[in-house]
Amino acid sequence: MPSIAIIGAGLAGLACARALQERGLDTTLFDKARGPGGRLSSRRLPEAIVDIGAQYFTARHADFRRVLSGWQDSGLVAPWPEALWAQEGQDAAPREDGIPRYCAVPRMSALSRHLAEGLRLHARTRIQALHRDGQAWWLESDSGERFGPFAAVAIGAPPPQAQALVAAHDAELARACGEIEQAPCWAAYALFDAPLPVAWQALRPGRGPLAFVGRNHTKPGRDRQGESLTLHATPTWSRDHLALSPEAAATALLDALAAILPASARPDTPRLLGAHRWRYARPICPAEGPGFRLTRHGLGLCGDGWTEGRVEDAWRSGHLLGRALAELTPASPIGGTQ
Ligand code: FAD
Repeated sequence: MPSIAIIGAGLAGLACARALQERGLDTTLFDKARGPGGRLSSRRLPEAIVDIGAQYFTARHADFRRVLSGWQDSGLVAPWPEALWAQEGQDAAPREDGIPRYCAVPRMSALSRHLAEGLRLHARTRIQALHRDGQAWWLESDSGERFGPFAAVAIGAPPPQAQALVAAHDAELARACGEIEQAPCWAAYALFDAPLPVAWQALRPGRGPLAFVGRNHTKPGRDRQGESLTLHATPTWSRDHLALSPEAAATALLDALAAILPASARPDTPRLLGAHRWRYARPICPAEGPGFRLTRHGLGLCGDGWTEGRVEDAWRSGHLLGRALAELTPASPIGGTQ
C-alpha cells in the first residue's frame, strides 16, 4: 500500500493523517519539533503547565462539532472560559457573544497527543526539500536523510514555510503560499504565588500591546496549579518588537497588564516569567477557496492559512485534504508508485 507523507504534525497535519487512515491509507508524519501539536502548544514549567499557543477554540462547523462531541464525552475537551471579558477603561466586564469556547484537558497539547496516537511520526525532522522521481515523492531532511517513496505529500506547515518546499514543483502553489501573510505573536507567561484579585478567566484588553490574557489555572484540569497567566501581544506590537529577547518581551507585556488593571489588582513580582515568539502565529488574510490545495501530482497543502485561521479551521483543512487525497483513484498519478 503506498504511504502518504505529511509534513507538519499540527492540527491540520494530524487531521489529514486521521482522515487518510480512516480510509485505509498508510501515512507517515514529519515534524521539526520534539512532538506533535504545532501552535496547539503547552509549556511544562516548575509546578505548572501553561498553554502558550491557542488558548481555546470554537466549533462553528457541523463536522468539527461532531468530533468535538466525542472529545467532550471522553473528557479530553471541556468548555472554557465561562465568558470572555473585555476591558473598558480600568474596568472589565463579560462580553456576552453566545459563542461556546472549549479547551483541551489538562493542557491544550493533550488534544494533539490524542490525535497523534497510533500514527507514525518522525519528530525532530525538518524537511527541507521534496524530490519527484517518476511518479513517486521523496523527502529530504536538513540532516541529509532521505525518506520515501511516497504516493503523495501533504504539507501542513504554515504557507510561508511551505512555499520553499513547493517552489521547485509548482509555481502556482508557491505563488498562493506567498499571498498568505502570517502575523507574529509574542506569548508571555508568568507564575505567581498569590492569586490575582480579578473576576475574569480570559480578558481581551482592547488597547495597548496586549491582545489577550488568560488565567491557565482557571482552565479545567489545571486547578492545582497557582496563578499562571498567558499574555498574548497584538500582531502590531509583536511585529514592532520581534527582535526583543524573551525576557524583555515578557517584562513589557506584564507591565502592560499592570497598566490596565486597577491599582488594587496589579500583579506582584512573578516567581517565573518567560516568553515564546511565534513567527507565524495567525494568517492576516487567509486564502479563499475549498480550504486546502491539491495538485494532480498528489502535492497538497493544508492548515489554518487556507481557511480562516483558527483551531477548527486547521482541523477542517487537514480533514478535507485527507478526504480529497483518499478519493484519488489508484489509476491516478499518485496511485501508481508501487
Ligand atoms: P501548526 O500548528 O503551525 O502546525 C504546523 C507544523 O508544521 C508545526 O508543528 C511545525 O513544527 C511543522 N513544520 C513547519 N515546517 C516544517 C518542516 N519544514 N519540516 C517539518 N515540520 C515542519 N486559534 C483558535 O481557534 N483560538 C485561539 O484562541 C487561538 N489563539 C492563538 C494564539 C497564538 C499565540 C497562536 C500562535 C495561535 C492561535 N490560534 C488560535 C491559532 C491556532 O493555534 C492555529 O489555527 C492552529 O493551531 C494551526 O494549526 P496548523 O496545523 O494549521 O499549523
